[in-house]
Amino acid sequence: MIDKNRRNFFKTSALFGTVALGASATAKAAPENILSDDRKGVLVDVTHCIGCRSCEWACQTAHDLPADKIHDYHDREVFKEFRRPNNDSYTVVNEFENPNNELLPINVKYQCMHCDRPACVSACIVGAFTKKEDGSVVWNTDMCIGCRYCMVACPFQIPTFDYHKAIQPDIHKCDFCYKRTQEGKLPACVEICPVEALVYGPRTEIIRVAKHRIKRAPNKYLDHIYGEDEVGGTSWVYLSGVDFQTLKFPKHGTKTAPGVSESIQHGLFAYFVPPIALYAWLGGIMWVSKRKNAKQANEEKI
Ligand code: SF4
Ligand code: SF4
Ligand code: SF4
Repeated sequence: MIDKNRRNFFKTSALFGTVALGASATAKAAPENILSDDRKGVLVDVTHCIGCRSCEWACQTAHDLPADKIHDYHDREVFKEFRRPNNDSYTVVNEFENPNNELLPINVKYQCMHCDRPACVSACIVGAFTKKEDGSVVWNTDMCIGCRYCMVACPFQIPTFDYHKAIQPDIHKCDFCYKRTQEGKLPACVEICPVEALVYGPRTEIIRVAKHRIKRAPNKYLDHIYGEDEVGGTSWVYLSGVDFQTLKFPKHGTKTAPGVSESIQHGLFAYFVPPIALYAWLGGIMWVSKRKNAKQANEEKI
């Protein structure tokens, strides 16, 4: 499921990472990472979702992303291919055949899971990512240097990178509508959902609601709240009537993903990399990425 740009970046960064490691002296990024007992979350009940994609429209509109007319979101042709969140859509809805009822497909909304112990926060070498007190994981574009370690580290392959802005690096992902919720509003997707497939509230409360739903209808739901424990817990959690791997959720244990990302950060960046080496390394990545993209574009023209 790793796309071509990601694969190119991983290969390239490994190459230039080796070059940049010639430097010494210790320095660590100190990202803000708050795990508040009062943090918020969203319960996504897959059995309620009707695949209307209004959440996609609301998210794009709330974030000034290019959006179609709302009625275009009812075109079900889009479900022919599995989609992932990208630069223009911080959330996407996919559709799957229902093994229990062929007349009733299953629709699933995907976005950043807002992990309790986020690998992106831990992997970011300049501390551009932050886990906020309200549970959201946000980032500061001005601090981002475009190293894309967050993309490598994320166990859900969520952050995407704007490859057309090499000079001003820009990561994209769901920000849990941080601005809106600070103003006392609901996240845009939650507000618009017509069937209450999305329930926003304190994480402890949505877990309680999820457990109650499973207890009340054990034949309807799997006895599994995805995200309650996966990778140390996530702010967005899911209920489903079918196995989560059928819905393309990665099978993760309870071990926190930063265990992986910290080894990237501590292995590669346990030593201070002087700016000149870092810029050379980043410049190398940009150069090779651009060259590969240009080559690919030429090949596609032929
Ligand atoms: S899903 Fe990925 S991008 Fe989102 S908080 Fe977790 S590690 Fe970060
Ligand atoms: S919480 Fe906000 S940013 Fe995240 S998917 Fe919903 S509308 Fe989009
Ligand atoms: S708005 Fe609600 S019902 Fe419609 S696709 Fe999104 S989550 Fe599903």
